[in-house]
Amino acid sequence: MKLINIRQLTGIIRLRSGLHIGAGKDSVEIGGMDQPIIKDPVSKEPYIPGSSLKGKLRSLLETSAFMQNEGTRKAVLNGHPCDCGRKGCPACTIFGAHAAPQDCEDGLGPTRLIVRDATLTPEYRELFQQGRLPMEVKYENIIHRVKGVAEHPRPLERVPAGTCFTLNMAFRVYEGDSEDLLDKVYKGLKLIQLDALGGGGSRGSGQVVFEDLKIDGQPVDLNKITVF
Ligand SMILES: [Zn+2]
Repeated sequence: MKLINIRQLTGIIRLRSGLHIGAGKDSVEIGGMDQPIIKDPVSKEPYIPGSSLKGKLRSLLETSAFMQNEGTRKAVLNGHPCDCGRKGCPACTIFGAHAAPQDCEDGLGPTRLIVRDATLTPEYRELFQQGRLPMEVKYENIIHRVKGVAEHPRPLERVPAGTCFTLNMAFRVYEGDSEDLLDKVYKGLKLIQLDALGGGGSRGSGQVVFEDLKIDGQPVDLNKITVF
């Protein structure tokens, strides 16, 4: 396999609604919230893990009709990422053959897409450091079906709407790779815009928009990307 390029996909992720990417129970401080968001352990700044972004891209793409081959369809039906490892499978080529041995079968090669952690943009980092970007605490309830009143309020921590993070991805191009692979990544971003990022997406959280999207410095217009 011959690596011929590593393309840089950059942009801004702007939150249209509060974002909740959970930190997991291990990191809950005593007296802390039971649904905290993930934060940098040193700076305490919220960020979007590359794994969350990559996972959402992958799952939305794998469930989309235009991405499915037999292997992917089977994996999706079983509820897991594609692991067919076949050359020509866009999911396994872009994201890696999940749980399958690397460069298995007929030279699928390394995972093409590298998704970096998305940190606050300089502007929002400054606000955060000045204490002017407080995290939101949103209470979610269950409505009692007979009494019609809200019960069992649970606090959910969210990064407030409007906050911006930097999007930074790298895309490896190997000799013989189709240009179509990168188009699928654009489609995945468009799908995230139509869907949501993080937890509570069906209840209003995690609406995002990708702005100032560029590939190697050249603008990419997501409005022109069709997915359905
Ligand atoms: Zn596959």
